Amino acid sequence: MSIETNKETLGFQTEVQQLLDLMIHSLYSNREIFLRELISNASDAADKLRFEGLTDDSLFEGDADLKIRVEYNKDQKTISVIDNGIGMTRQEVIEQLGTIAKSGTKQFFNALTGDQSKDSQLIGRFGVGFYSAFIVAKKVEVISRRAGLPRTEGVRWISSGESDYSIETVDRPKRGTKVVLYLRDEADEFLDGFRLRSIIRKYSDHISLPIIMMTESTDDKDKDKGKGEETINSATALWNMNKKDIKEEEYNEFYKHVGHDFEDPLAYSHNKVEGKLEYTSLLYIPARAQFDLWDREQRHGIKLYVRRIFIMDDAEQLIPSYLRFVRGVVDSNDLPLNISREILQRNKTIDLIRSGCTKRILGLLKSLAKKDAEKYAKFWKEFGRVLKEGIIEEIDKREDLAKLFRFCTSHEDKQEQSVALEDYVARMQEGQKAIYYVTAENYVTAKNSPHLEIFKEKGIEVLLLTDPIDEWLTSHLTEFDGKPLQSVSKGELDLGDLQDNKEKEQDKETSKEYDKLAKRIKDVLEDQVQDVRITHRLTSSPACLVADEHDMGRHLEQIMKASGQTFKGAKPILEVNPQHPIVARLKDESEQQRVVDWSHILFDQALLSEGGKLEDPAGFVQRLNSVFMELAEK
Ligand code: ADP
Ligand code: MG
Repeated sequence: MSIETNKETLGFQTEVQQLLDLMIHSLYSNREIFLRELISNASDAADKLRFEGLTDDSLFEGDADLKIRVEYNKDQKTISVIDNGIGMTRQEVIEQLGTIAKSGTKQFFNALTGDQSKDSQLIGRFGVGFYSAFIVAKKVEVISRRAGLPRTEGVRWISSGESDYSIETVDRPKRGTKVVLYLRDEADEFLDGFRLRSIIRKYSDHISLPIIMMTESTDDKDKDKGKGEETINSATALWNMNKKDIKEEEYNEFYKHVGHDFEDPLAYSHNKVEGKLEYTSLLYIPARAQFDLWDREQRHGIKLYVRRIFIMDDAEQLIPSYLRFVRGVVDSNDLPLNISREILQRNKTIDLIRSGCTKRILGLLKSLAKKDAEKYAKFWKEFGRVLKEGIIEEIDKREDLAKLFRFCTSHEDKQEQSVALEDYVARMQEGQKAIYYVTAENYVTAKNSPHLEIFKEKGIEVLLLTDPIDEWLTSHLTEFDGKPLQSVSKGELDLGDLQDNKEKEQDKETSKEYDKLAKRIKDVLEDQVQDVRITHRLTSSPACLVADEHDMGRHLEQIMKASGQTFKGAKPILEVNPQHPIVARLKDESEQQRVVDWSHILFDQALLSEGGKLEDPAGFVQRLNSVFMELAEK
């Protein structure tokens, strides 16, 4: 038969070229993983065929016995991985093996440092399995045919991993994919049946379909294994085994397969639920954030199986969005096989599974926090900001979630968020009624915020909140353990019982003395502030800005403004410190121009110290200089 081969040579996408280069030069230490990746792809391909076969069994073409075959040829120095899974069309080959379609590609390349050991870790995180073939191969050939297409629509892809690949249409009687690796000379250690078997057992034992190799010897003990073939792996779905029969390494290897990761997970939870509702879940918390964690399009990484048959990847209904970093498998006995994404969206069983999985993960995190603070700190660093979204999404789990949160505080001299609210509450002072916090754009601004001065003086701990989501967090998490969360930059300072009566009396008195000055400053700053008042929250700064009790927080306003919207928030309140020499000096100032200039300076510096942007920076500089000049002339 004659077929139009349409042979063409196409260039790899630049990113693929870069990646190949990295693969070849950086992933040298752990070369054997290429086999795991190719087997993993073969297994995925079988899963996809099984799923499509549910609605169209002609796709099996009379052969529903799905397996993966690994062959090697010492003379030709080749290793082949062959599957009878779904296969690929010509277009799919071009898209899947010539470009990186994954979201997060850009972040990945931006994150590259040029330091090979660091970069090879990044490759791991990005999980680009197929290209790992080039770690050991100088040339890779892929021959494939999509299930259901005529044999004349096979496709052959060949590349030596440099800048391009060739692709042509070929005759391919069998559906599925064959990947042939032409090994580099340095990689011929892999041309060894014993070595290949041990790699397969090590990394791919959990693959749920048989991985077959030709038997090596004709010894008697191999004869009973069939026609010269043997199954290398145990070929059972890991999640269906008994927990006690599964080794930690097996859990970890399975994670790498489902999580498309090269690193071990941080923690996992394996559960069989029996009774009215029957399902098994095996859920993992990765050690590192995925590249597309912040991508809104990203789907959530749980694979759904129904009675051991793979149904879909990324079943986002199985886990709430704030747990989107979780990877794993759910295998249900109750769902129909022909379930679609649409049905998933309004299905009672799914809702129950979802709330079960949520509970498992929160429980897992709770015990991790208790048992292994170091691991938990790692988790928090990678995923804390995502978990905080739960406060908004999951109203009835607020207290549980809040217990899992970690914060920076004014009592800890470190930027890692490590203080739990329970710790905070445990060391609250006698008479302290609220949990105090300040929000700012970054740690230094928060830590040095003038609003903290009185709290530092009195030794009261303040949470330093610097994640963008914290503004929303504090508007939803308004109390913890019965204690209100109170911004230190909102409303009038009320330290309640933390101040004794004598202090309060004194403060009242000074405030009265300074009433007139406050009015004068307010007249000057009329357009910028809603009020000027005397404060006792400052000890070393002359002034600060606060929001009114019910207005939007100062930092949230900055975020809104920075987001480019034409946004007009409420005017702030300027608070001035009567203890400060500048303010004291201004109290009986007779020269109006000085009051004008100094008022502006006070306002502008208060704005600067909270990380804000001046409306008239040049004006600020001019006024400041005129004060200096006055000094210089003296
Ligand atoms: P991933 O497996 O994470 O998607 P890979 O780089 O391993 O990334 O593979 C890229 C894509 O190439 C796969 O998603 C799949 O679409 C396709 N592919 C690779 N190997 C096979 C195969 N044996 N059969 C069918 N498709 C495959
Ligand atoms: Mg893969």
